[in-house]
Amino acid sequence: MKRLLLWAVFTSIVIIVIIASIILFNTGLAKRSAPDITLTVSKEISLDEEKISHNLSKAIQIKTISHQDKEKTNWEEFNKFIRFLEDTFPNAHSTLKREIINSYALLFTWEGKQPAISPTLLIAHYDVVPAEESTEHLWKYPPFSGAIAEGFVWGRGTLDVKCNVIGIMEAVEFLIKQGFTPKRTILISFGHDEEVGGRDGALAVATTLKSRGIIPEFSLDEGMAITKGIIPGIATPVALIGIAEKGYLSLELSVTTSGGHSSNPPRETTIGTLAKAILAIERNPMPAKVAGPIRIMLEKLAPYMDFEMRLVCSNLWLFSPFLKYAFENIPSANAGIRTTFAPTLFHAGEKENVLPSHASAVVNVRMLPGDSKDKVIAYIKDIIKDPMVKIKEYSPEKTDEASPISDINSEGYEIISQTIKQVWGDIPIAPSLTLGGTDSANYKDTVRHLYRFQPLKFTQEELNLIHNINERIEIKNYLKAIEFYIRLIERL
Ligand SMILES: [Zn+2]
Repeated sequence: MKRLLLWAVFTSIVIIVIIASIILFNTGLAKRSAPDITLTVSKEISLDEEKISHNLSKAIQIKTISHQDKEKTNWEEFNKFIRFLEDTFPNAHSTLKREIINSYALLFTWEGKQPAISPTLLIAHYDVVPAEESTEHLWKYPPFSGAIAEGFVWGRGTLDVKCNVIGIMEAVEFLIKQGFTPKRTILISFGHDEEVGGRDGALAVATTLKSRGIIPEFSLDEGMAITKGIIPGIATPVALIGIAEKGYLSLELSVTTSGGHSSNPPRETTIGTLAKAILAIERNPMPAKVAGPIRIMLEKLAPYMDFEMRLVCSNLWLFSPFLKYAFENIPSANAGIRTTFAPTLFHAGEKENVLPSHASAVVNVRMLPGDSKDKVIAYIKDIIKDPMVKIKEYSPEKTDEASPISDINSEGYEIISQTIKQVWGDIPIAPSLTLGGTDSANYKDTVRHLYRFQPLKFTQEELNLIHNINERIEIKNYLKAIEFYIRLIERL
C-alpha cells in the first residue's frame, strides 16, 4: 500500500514537471526575436494638412444619413456628396472610370498596367448614422459642422467612415498628380447604405462585378484597426486585421393564447411564457470557443505580451478554459468567443386590465463562424423546450451567415501587413474577428479574400466615439491613414 502511494506521488510529480516544462518551453518559444518583416525606408510623403482637413470637414457637412425606412432618407444630400467628390478630386474622376450603381453607390475602376493580374477592391461607405436630436446639445461642436478645432475634425462620420472614403480619394488624387499608375487594377467602391445593411449599395456593386466575371483577389474594408491599450498584456499599439466577421440574425419569439380578463388569470400568462423563454435564452448562452480568428490572434500576439499573458496565450491547449471564464464577464471579449443573444424588442398588452392574447419579442443574434442559422434556431428551441413559443426569422433580408475565414498566408494579407509596418513601424500585427457587420458581408461571394482594416489608431476612448456623441478624428491620425492608402496603392 505504502509503495503504491509513493508510486502515485512520484508519477504525479513527473506529470506536473512535464506540464510545467511544456508551458515554460512554449512561453519561451513565444518570446519575440528579430522583427519578422524587413522595414523598407521609403520616400517621405508631404501632405497638405490644411487642405486635407478642409476636404474632410466639407464631406462631414453633407448629411448623408441612411435610414431603415428609405422614405425618410434625404437623397439630395447623397447627390450633393457625389458632386462634392467630383469637384474635390478632379484628377481621380478624369483618370478612373466612375460608375453610379443603383443611383447612389459608386464604383471606380483604376485600370492597371497589367490587367491580367486580378484586381484589388477598396471598400468604404459614405452614409452615416443620425445624431440623435435629444443629444445634439451634448456635442462640443454640432454633429454636422465638420468643425476643425483642437487638432481634430469633428462630426458624424469622421471615424465611421467618411475618413476612409475621403482618405482613399486623397491618396488616389495624390498619386495621379505624381504620375503614378498601378500595376494591378484597383477597384474602389463606396456604398450608400452600409449602416442599414448595404443591400442596395455594396450588394448591388458585388452583383455587378460578378455579372462581369470580375473576382478581386482581395478587398480591404473597415472593421478592425490599430488599437492601443486594449489587448491585455500589451502596452504598445497592435494592428488587427479582420479576417472574418460574425453573422447576423434576428429571431422573433411569439406566444399566442386565448387572453382573458386580468381578474382571473391562469397560472401562466402569455407574457409569463414569453418572459420565461427570454430568460432561458439569457441564462444559457451558446458554448464559448477559443477558436478560429480569435485563437490565431492570441497565439500571434503572445510573443508581444507580458509574462503572465504570454504564459496563458502560448499555452491555450491548457489555459483556454480559464480564458473563457475570464472573457465571459467582459462583453466585448465574450462576443469574440461565442455566438451572442441580445433581446432587443418586447411587445405585449394594450390595457392594464386585459390579459394579452399575443406577446412577441425579438432576439438579435451574432453568430460565430461555425455557428449557422439552423444550428442557432435548433439550439434555442432546445433551450426553451416549450411548443407554445413559436420562433421565426424576424428580418430575413438582413440575415447573414458568419463570413468565411480569409487566409493569413495570402498575398493580400502580406501586402496589408507590409504597408502597416511601412507606415507605423514594427508594431505587432495579428488577424482577428470583426464583431459588428460591415459591407464586406455583401462581397463574400465575389471577392477571394476579404480583409477588414481601418488605417487608424484607436484608444478605448476613441472607439467609444463611433456612432456616439463628439465623434471626431485627430488630424495627425487621419494623415497617417492617407499615407497608408498611398503606400498600399503603390504596392499594388
Ligand atoms: Zn461603418
